Amino acid sequence: MTEPRLVGKRWKKEFEDPIREGWRDKKAYKFHPGTRKPVFSIDTPPLYVNTPVHMGHATTYTIMDMIARFRRMTGFEVLFPLGLDRNGLPIEVAAERKFKVSISQIPREKFIELCKKMLEDSSLESIESLYRLGHSYSSWDTGTDIGDIYYTDSEEYRKLTQNTFIDLWNMGLIYMDKKVNNYCPVCRTTIADSEIEYKDFHTTFNYVKFKVRETGNTITIGTTRPELLAACKMVLFNPKDDRYKKLEGKTAIVPLYNIEVPIKAHPYAKIESGTGLVMMCSFGDYTDIRFFREMNLEPVFLINSRGLMNEDAGFLEGMSIEDARKDIIVRLESEGLIEKQEKILHRAPICERSKTEIEFIAMPEYYLKQMDFVPEIRKLSNRIRFYSPKSKQILLDWVNSLSMDWAISRRRYYATEIPLWYCKNCSTPVVPPKGRYYKPWKENPPIEKCTRCGSIEFEPETRVFDTWFDSSISPLYILGYGSDNKFFGKAFPCSLRPQGKEIVRTWLHYTLLRCYQLTKKPVFDDVWIHYHVLDEKGLKMSKSLGNMIDPMDIIERFGAEPFRIWCALEGNITLSDIKCSFERIDGASKFLTKLWNVARFVSIFKPSKKGIRLYETDKWILKELDKLVKKTRDCYKKYDFHNPIVAIKHFIWETFASHYIELVKSRAYNQGNKFTKPEQKAAIYTLNKVLEELLLLLYPIACFITHRIYKDVFRGDIDREEFPKPNPRLAKTRLRFKTEDLMELNSRIWKRKKNKGLSLKAPIKHAILPRKFKRIEKDLKEAHSIEKLDYGKRFYLRL
Ligand SMILES: [Zn+2]
Ligand SMILES: [Zn+2]
Repeated sequence: MTEPRLVGKRWKKEFEDPIREGWRDKKAYKFHPGTRKPVFSIDTPPLYVNTPVHMGHATTYTIMDMIARFRRMTGFEVLFPLGLDRNGLPIEVAAERKFKVSISQIPREKFIELCKKMLEDSSLESIESLYRLGHSYSSWDTGTDIGDIYYTDSEEYRKLTQNTFIDLWNMGLIYMDKKVNNYCPVCRTTIADSEIEYKDFHTTFNYVKFKVRETGNTITIGTTRPELLAACKMVLFNPKDDRYKKLEGKTAIVPLYNIEVPIKAHPYAKIESGTGLVMMCSFGDYTDIRFFREMNLEPVFLINSRGLMNEDAGFLEGMSIEDARKDIIVRLESEGLIEKQEKILHRAPICERSKTEIEFIAMPEYYLKQMDFVPEIRKLSNRIRFYSPKSKQILLDWVNSLSMDWAISRRRYYATEIPLWYCKNCSTPVVPPKGRYYKPWKENPPIEKCTRCGSIEFEPETRVFDTWFDSSISPLYILGYGSDNKFFGKAFPCSLRPQGKEIVRTWLHYTLLRCYQLTKKPVFDDVWIHYHVLDEKGLKMSKSLGNMIDPMDIIERFGAEPFRIWCALEGNITLSDIKCSFERIDGASKFLTKLWNVARFVSIFKPSKKGIRLYETDKWILKELDKLVKKTRDCYKKYDFHNPIVAIKHFIWETFASHYIELVKSRAYNQGNKFTKPEQKAAIYTLNKVLEELLLLLYPIACFITHRIYKDVFRGDIDREEFPKPNPRLAKTRLRFKTEDLMELNSRIWKRKKNKGLSLKAPIKHAILPRKFKRIEKDLKEAHSIEKLDYGKRFYLRL
C-alpha cells in the first residue's frame, strides 16, 4: 500500500489562494485574438462602477465563469471581458454629493473634472470579490490591477458610440423632433419609456365643480391633478352614459381660470370612474397624450424643464408641482369649488433612477427610429436561441408595447457627447467624419464654412447620449467593430449575451436594434436571461431592507468553492428567482469533503496505462460514467449547471462511492493475491479513470478543488485539459445486468447483515444469486465475503 498522492486530509479554503495566484501569474485566461481556434465571446454586463458587487452579481457572474471555463475546455478561445459602466447620471449624482456642488451652478468643464476625480477615487475593491471567486475574465491581467477591464467612458468606447451615431445619421435613422415625452424634473432630462417604472402613490381624488356655460348648471369632475386645470382642453363623458347625454355639444367653464372648453362624448371617459366625467389636460398621463394626438389638440405646457409651474399656470407660476397642487386645492376649497375629496392609491409612472414621478413635456430631442424596426426585431428574435426559451417572450412583450421612437438625447454632462454642430446662420447640422472622439462643446467643427450658406460661425450641440446608446453597442465594442475588422469578421456574431430579465427592455432590446441597424444581422447566437437572487425569506436584497450580503463575507467564511457549488446546485436561475442562505452555502462544503475523501482513496492506487483488460464491474461503472458525461456536456452547452451538478453529486455518492468502490476495493488492494494482476490493474485503472473524468466534469463549476486534486493525483494542469466526450464504444457495451439490479442486490445483502446486527464484512456461508451477476462473481464474493456462491432464480443468503 502506498501513500495517497492527494496531499492533505481535507479540503481547506486556504488551498484556494495559491491556485488563484497561479492563474494570475501565468495569465491563464488571456485572450489571443490571433488564435486559430473558434472564438466564443461573452458580452458580460459592464458592472456599474459605483455600486458594490452584491450577491446577485456574485452568483450570476460566477455562472458566466462556468460557461467560460466549459467553452475553453471544448476547444474555444474564450473572450470573457469585464467592463465597467462609468457613464451617466449616477456618476454625476455621486460627484455632486461627494464635492457638494450642483451641476447647474458650475461650468461644464469643471463639473466633468469632478466626475473624473470621483471616478479615480472610486474603489475597485468590489471587483476583488469577483477575483476571489475564481472568475476567469480574459481582462484579468495582474490580479486586481484592472488590466484590460474596459470602461464605457473611455475615449475608445465613446469614439465607437459616436461613430455608430454618425453611421445611423447618414443612414437617415436619426431625426430631431419636439414631441411630448417622459420628462424627469429631478434628472432634468427627457427619458425613454424603458427607463420608467410604476409605483402606487397615496393621493387625493378631488371632485371639482365646473359650470356649464349654456345652462348655468354645475357639473363635477374628479381629478388627481387639479394643478393642471389651466391645461384643460376638453371635458368627456362616455357615449353610453345616459346621465350626461344632454351635455353633448355644450361648453364647460374651467374654474379659477374661466377657460371655456367643449364637452364631448368619448369612450376614454369611463362610466364607473369618479362622476363619469373626465377633464383632458396636457398632460396628466399617457391617455391624455394619446387623446391629444388623436383629436389633434394643441397642448398647453404648464411645467418647465426644472419641474416648476410656468407663466401659463397663472397664479401657480414658479411653484413646484407639489406646492401648486396644494395651493390650488386651498383656492378651490375657499371658493366652494370642491364637492368632496377621496384618498386613493394612484398608480403613476416614475423615473427609474430618481424614483420621482415623471411629467410629460415637449422638448426638442433626437430620436432613433425603432418603430419601423419592430417587425425586424420580432423576426430577429427567432434567429437567436434564448435560455430559457420562455424568456424570449419578455422581449416580445416589450417590443409589442412600444409606441414611439427612442429619444436618445439627454441634457446632462458626464456622458458621450452628441457629435454635431450647427451653422449659426442657417442651422444646418455639421456631422463630423468618423474616426475620433469629439467634444463639440469645447471644440470647433471640422469644417471652416457652412456648406449651405457659407457662414463661418457655428454653434455646438451641447447634449449627450442616453447611456443605453453607449451600452447597446457593447458586443460590437468587444469584438473590435470598426477597430479590428479582421477579428470582427471572424468573431461576429457574439456567442452569448448573459443578462438579467429586468434589463431585457433596455439593454437587450436596444442592443438588438442598434446592432441590427448597423450590421443587418442578429448580434448574438445565444441569450441567457437570469432571474434574481433573493434573501432567505424571498425578499429582494436592498440597502434599505438591510438584508444585503457582501459576497466577501461568504468568501471569508467558506472560501469561494462552496459558493460556486451552491450557485450551480441551488436551482435554475433561468427559470425563477433563487434564495440565498449561509446555511445552504455551508452545506455545499459537504460535497467538497466527499469529493476529497473519494479522491484521496483513489489516489492510493497508481494506475498503469498498458495492458488493461476490463472486468465486467469496470465496464459497468465506465458505462454509467459515460452517460453522465453525455448529460453534463449537453446541459453545459445549454448553460444549465444545475442538473449536471445534481447528477454528478448523485453519481459520486450513490453510484461510485457506495457501489463501485465497495465492489472493487479488495481487487484494488489485492491482499493475499486473490485476484490476478490484470484484474487488479483493471480496477486501479478504472478507479483513476472515473476520478479523472469526474474532475473534468466538475472543473467548470468547482475550479479550485478540481485543480488541486488533478495536480496532486494526475500531475497535470486541469486548465489545459479537454472536456470529456461520450465514448460510443462504451455506449454500445452490453452488460448482463442493469444498474438498478446491481444496486438492489448490494443493498439487500447489506440490509440482511445489518438486520442481524452483523458487520458488513461478516461472512455469508452460502448465497444463491441471479445468474446475470456471474461475470462479476469475484468482486461480489470479495465485497460481501461470500464463501459459497451458486446461481439460481431465487435470492438466498445463509449467514
Ligand atoms: Zn429622474
Ligand atoms: Zn449655414
